[in-house]
Amino acid sequence: MTGPVLNHLGKTWLELGPARTAESDGPWRAARDAQGILWMALDVEEAGANTVSRDVLEGLDRQLDAIAEDPPEGVVIRSAKIGSFAVGADINMFRDLKDADDFKTMLDEGHAVLDRLEALECPTVCVVHGQALGGGFEIALACDRIIAVNGASFGFPEVNLGLHPGLGGTFRLTERIDPIEAMTLMLTGKTAHTKKAKALGIVETIVEERHVEAAVRDAINGNRKHDGPSLKDRAMALSPARRLAARKMRSTVKERASRDHYPAPYALIELWETHGGDRNEMQRAEIASFADLVTNETSRNLVRVFFLRQALKNDGDGQDGITHVHVVGAGTMGGEIAAWCALNGKSVTFSDPDLKALGQTIRRAGDICKDQHLSGIENRDTLDRLMPDPDGLGVPKADLVIEAGPEDAEIKRKIYAGIEPRMNPTATLVTNSSSLSITELAKTLKRPRRFAGLHFFNPVSKMQLVEVVSHDALYGAVADRLAAFCGTIGRLPARVGDYSGYLVNRALTPYLLEAIQLIEEGHAKETIDAAAEAFGMPMGPVELADQIGLDICLHVAESLKSGLSKPMVEIPGWLTDKIENGDLGKKSGRGFYDWTDGKADKGAASNPETAQAITDRLILPILDACVECLREGIAHDSDQVDGALIFGTGFAPFRGGPMHYARSRGVDEVVARLTELAESHGDRFRPDPGWKDLD
Ligand code: NAD
Repeated sequence: MTGPVLNHLGKTWLELGPARTAESDGPWRAARDAQGILWMALDVEEAGANTVSRDVLEGLDRQLDAIAEDPPEGVVIRSAKIGSFAVGADINMFRDLKDADDFKTMLDEGHAVLDRLEALECPTVCVVHGQALGGGFEIALACDRIIAVNGASFGFPEVNLGLHPGLGGTFRLTERIDPIEAMTLMLTGKTAHTKKAKALGIVETIVEERHVEAAVRDAINGNRKHDGPSLKDRAMALSPARRLAARKMRSTVKERASRDHYPAPYALIELWETHGGDRNEMQRAEIASFADLVTNETSRNLVRVFFLRQALKNDGDGQDGITHVHVVGAGTMGGEIAAWCALNGKSVTFSDPDLKALGQTIRRAGDICKDQHLSGIENRDTLDRLMPDPDGLGVPKADLVIEAGPEDAEIKRKIYAGIEPRMNPTATLVTNSSSLSITELAKTLKRPRRFAGLHFFNPVSKMQLVEVVSHDALYGAVADRLAAFCGTIGRLPARVGDYSGYLVNRALTPYLLEAIQLIEEGHAKETIDAAAEAFGMPMGPVELADQIGLDICLHVAESLKSGLSKPMVEIPGWLTDKIENGDLGKKSGRGFYDWTDGKADKGAASNPETAQAITDRLILPILDACVECLREGIAHDSDQVDGALIFGTGFAPFRGGPMHYARSRGVDEVVARLTELAESHGDRFRPDPGWKDLD
């Protein structure tokens, strides 16, 4: 959410920072000022944001050679990019290097450079605007002082790639701030925003851009002091205290991820527990542990997920030409879609026959702004752009109208009949329907070529995927525009064909329905959920059904059933009775589980062995439905399917996606297992004919 970094002259650092001089080299620009301070700016070529690569570290090493020859009064490091300091390591390196030894060599070299930077005799200051993540944060930590421009944030997201910091972050952060706080940052991958970073002691000073120069001079002239270690930090240098703290960390981590699936947080805890008091040992151990993790399957798959995300994102590149969005139906989904669009810079009007829904949307928008750590001004601007519009006056001005009314084709048709004639003829109309046929809805419109599905997932502010659902009559340019729109509001588009449940719900529904069948057979709901979670799903299917709402699940299941050739689980009478009784899941406080304070009251899972036996029944139908979608041409390739399922459902990311999992396990083996299940449990498991076409 950082805007361009402007200084008091209204110029960006890019314009005012050191121009390329004799001292510039590769990605580094450098120049000395009259006081003899060396100002260095990181400016990775042909990149919107800096990433830390071998090239960056080698360039820094050459700068350090020059510094050794002619020492300056002080060194200032910052970024020449408008948006941020540096967003982490260059992930391409992780794909290019093959074995642990290659990584070790590269890390040894990188550590030597940052050790040199840290050992400089002159004062060193890192000025951070925007994000300083991963390797970027590690460069900052090797400097004596960190100054944050308001809005800066710091973090180690490595854990999301199945790693921990590898360029000295593990010991430099645990030395600089309270080690427990440091470990929490590294274990969660969360970022510390400016004020938090100051409170933690990561940064010394927070300034506005226009005061950077004065703050730097103060720091270099020694007017700002860096505190020594606190009593608690010194206690943590002793191994009994670390052992106790490590035990607590391990039990917290265990609640979120198992060691088998995500070894990185466990490795990090071990690293600190064993070597925390000894920097040299910790450095050696950090390098060895990183090299080990980066070559294991979890990390390889998570790096794959990073590139899957990139591919989806690239599909939404380009200008959308959409400034004004009108949302019709401001319920659970429409309200959040409206708020999210406003937060991402669109002018938004929204209407709903229920006036209460309008007020709720504004309140929800306030909560989302808070979650996103918006500044006061950004918060105000977002709310200014979000306009309740009960009479739909915004419709004629809108470039895009998003319909999020009830999931009923007749109601939706009536809404379109009222809206389409009032829309600008070049504007686009979309529905957020999760299961209705886009082709059928388009037939009732005057301009079907400008109508598509735009399927957001719940909650909109957290789920990154949006399905752009096409149909035969859709203009290609409109589909491109919608994909670009997703990009401009920070969402990942998956262009899919019109099909029962489109791609994601088609694949996810059998997972939910098989759980109902398992309950019908007498399995405990906790055991079913545990089986799915043990595989790595973020939430078991029974709890997920309660979260989504049993009425919505039933509705999606029924509409899928009519459009598919394969049989599905029969919905038992007790489930429809439950729904009729108002036991709808989390939203009504009772579904399969009772819900208190937004949490399911779960008992212990009964039998882990049974859990193992039912995992295939839950997971393999997801894979089979994905193959069916590929054969039907609903998705364009396996990578797109993997990306969509991970970002639309949270499908175990460390497995690299359903198709990747099928290939790693062996296509023949998966087909054989599905055939066995079909024989024992019914034709719904019969493998799709598309399996034979997989390479
Ligand atoms: P909701 O019931 O929370 O909201 C629907 C809103 O539409 C209500 O505020 C209602 O007052 C309003 N409405 C009713 N009649 C209307 C009319 N004639 N004109 C305009 N507005 C009208 O439902 P929801 O969960 O937000 O679902 C909305 C759409 O999004 C549905 O098509 C649904 O399938 C889809 N969807 C829902 C989810 C989900 O998890 N809830 C996820 C993805 C997509």
